[in-house]
Amino acid sequence: MAEQFDITPETPLERVIGAASARKVEQAFGYTLCGEMLGHYPRRYLDVGELSHIASLPFGEEVTIVAEVESVSERRMHSRRGFLIEVVVKDALGPEQGRIRMTFFNGYDARKQLVPGTVAMFNGKVGHFQQHLELAQPDFSVLEQAQDADPKPIPIYPATAKLPNKKIRDVLEILLDGVTEAGFPEMIPGAVLKRHGLLGRCEALRTIHRPAQVPDAMRARHRFVFEEALHLQLALVARRAYRHEQEAVNRQGRPDGLLARFDEQLPFELTDGQLLAGREIADDLVRGYPMNRLLQGEVGSGKTFVAVRAMLQVIDSGGQAALLAPTEVLAQQHYHSIRRALGPMAEPGMLGSAEQGTRVDLLTGSMTASKKKEVLLRAASGETGILVGTHALLSDTVSFADLGLIVVDEQHRFGVEQRDVLRNKALNPPHMLVMTATPIPRTVAMTVFGDLEVSLMRGLPFGRAPITTHLVPLNDERFRSRMFGLMREVVSHGHQVYVVCPRITEVALEEDAELLDPDAEPPVTGRKPAPKSDKPPSMTVEKMLELLKGNSAFDGVGIGVLHGKLPADAKRAAMVDFEQARTQILVSTTVIEVGVDVPNATLMVVVDADSFGISQLHQLRGRIGRGQNAGTCLLASWLPTDHPSMARLNAVQSTTDGFELAEADLEERREGDILGASQSGSKSTLRLLRVMKHAKTIAKARAEAESLIAGDRELSRYPALARSVGEWVDEDMQAFLERG
Ligand code: ADP
Ligand code: MG
Repeated sequence: MAEQFDITPETPLERVIGAASARKVEQAFGYTLCGEMLGHYPRRYLDVGELSHIASLPFGEEVTIVAEVESVSERRMHSRRGFLIEVVVKDALGPEQGRIRMTFFNGYDARKQLVPGTVAMFNGKVGHFQQHLELAQPDFSVLEQAQDADPKPIPIYPATAKLPNKKIRDVLEILLDGVTEAGFPEMIPGAVLKRHGLLGRCEALRTIHRPAQVPDAMRARHRFVFEEALHLQLALVARRAYRHEQEAVNRQGRPDGLLARFDEQLPFELTDGQLLAGREIADDLVRGYPMNRLLQGEVGSGKTFVAVRAMLQVIDSGGQAALLAPTEVLAQQHYHSIRRALGPMAEPGMLGSAEQGTRVDLLTGSMTASKKKEVLLRAASGETGILVGTHALLSDTVSFADLGLIVVDEQHRFGVEQRDVLRNKALNPPHMLVMTATPIPRTVAMTVFGDLEVSLMRGLPFGRAPITTHLVPLNDERFRSRMFGLMREVVSHGHQVYVVCPRITEVALEEDAELLDPDAEPPVTGRKPAPKSDKPPSMTVEKMLELLKGNSAFDGVGIGVLHGKLPADAKRAAMVDFEQARTQILVSTTVIEVGVDVPNATLMVVVDADSFGISQLHQLRGRIGRGQNAGTCLLASWLPTDHPSMARLNAVQSTTDGFELAEADLEERREGDILGASQSGSKSTLRLLRVMKHAKTIAKARAEAESLIAGDRELSRYPALARSVGEWVDEDMQAFLERG
């Protein structure tokens, strides 16, 4: 562009870099605006300060060299599709003249840019091939000439074949020339900048893309990390302030109501954790503004009872409660166990009077139309006190006389819209209780998670039988046969066995949860797939079934099957058969991960356990040890014991403390991170911020946000900041903020 003009974040890229380049950028990254492109930060920097010479490259380490291309050749690959570019380079700086080979698999960039005579800076790890050192797939950046190897670090961007690093740098050079204070005004108040030693916005933009030295770039990054953290915290704190301004009906219950009677007839003592969480919730229900509370508790810690007590308090105050469960199986379970727990109180009195009891109803998609209609009428008339259900609860046809409390179980399977749909069925802002067994370390939950108060229940009910966990190396025949031997033994003692396989059939690669529930959000603790390895193809439900049925040791043993692809009534039948011990072994996918409660099941076998994440394994294991009988969990894997994935299994084997495991899980997923990974859609938000890595910055930003918003929820004293937060809280972000 000949004429230079100032840009703003909203300036279309096309106007500054021309239609052809803009199209390339849009195809590569989806950016159409200057602000989006400028937010494409370098992954890292090649630093000339640490140049190596080819003659003395240290094996196995990451190095940066400036070298001249001597020869280039290209080979088709025989074994797999693609081509290989081989480049030989020699030192371009200094008197030494070492040579090294580099290979680029499908190296489109290399083919185009690395012609003989080209001088470039290369960065990669030193490996070897046929007794010679080589750099495989190095990053590189072409230089004008060796002497120019200008001492500035070279930014390395996330790039694509069609939009290589060099091109990205060229585009950013053009944009940076148009960046001014007017177009990119500072939104962070001066005092905050000063207190935390942050670079100003424009300076930080220039510095992150063209730093004089790497430490400068790090300072610039820090400014943007802080900016993201501050925006996030301002949005969260403002949401809380807004919620506190809303009026909720006071649900203080009655001293002689159902809750009092329920507590009198409890067959056991509530644990300290249950009492404490119960008290926190009871207090929230009378606070005058809507509760928004996350109840975190170990698998089997008795969250359902805490929820039921809250529901009864609301019912005693004339309101109704809804319990939203992620699967049909779980909804059924909740329905039955709540009815069991309430006993005669679940039979409404002759006149439907709540003093006698309250009606508990179930609503699921697979019910007949006439059955549904009855349930809907009772909910609408107020006859029903507790309505348990799946997604069916969200349907337009569902209405309540006075919905006072919404309980969401295993919240990570529900999106914000779904919860809002339920919220909107209430006359007045309802209270919300979200339950999860996937613990998030408290610090993380408090600083990062949506506008939720957190109740944390540690410990399990007294008298709960312990679970022992063993790893089973499947490549050892003796262990394999011992595993089946144990299954047989457990069955002959009259107990039951879960066998969990990663998938249903060879072809169905989808996660079972998604099959059940196509609209479900990915779990917060979703995990990256296990690294590929040379192990046998993973076990499927179908194969396992065949294996067991073909094994004479299991003749006469009832074997059931449960997975997400079965029709609803088959699922229900499989569950009921297992609950009533008509089947002794249940072969399933992770459908049974949440909530299923069969105390007589004492053995859990997870086949190909390495295909699951830590939290998932912990959840699965929680299905056993629920009665008085000690439980055993076998984590079976074909992987060798020193395989990196085995660290996960070892962690799960070594402790049953879900909070400890949650930290291990977060550590392991440092890269993906619960913030970043969960929000794929937003282009302009949370690019750098990571929960664990930036915990301190997040805490500082939280404190600043609280004082900025105190008494001024709209941030009227800081219009630039208010505008920026407003733009930042786009739809994706909204979902993130409300995510429980
Ligand atoms: P989760 O927290 O995993 O949802 P549940 O609410 O399903 O746990 O409870 C697990 C089991 O523990 C249930 O069978 C329930 O009846 C039982 N339980 C709950 N609270 C107690 C308690 N205080 N003492 C003994 N057993 C309890
Ligand atoms: Mg539960």
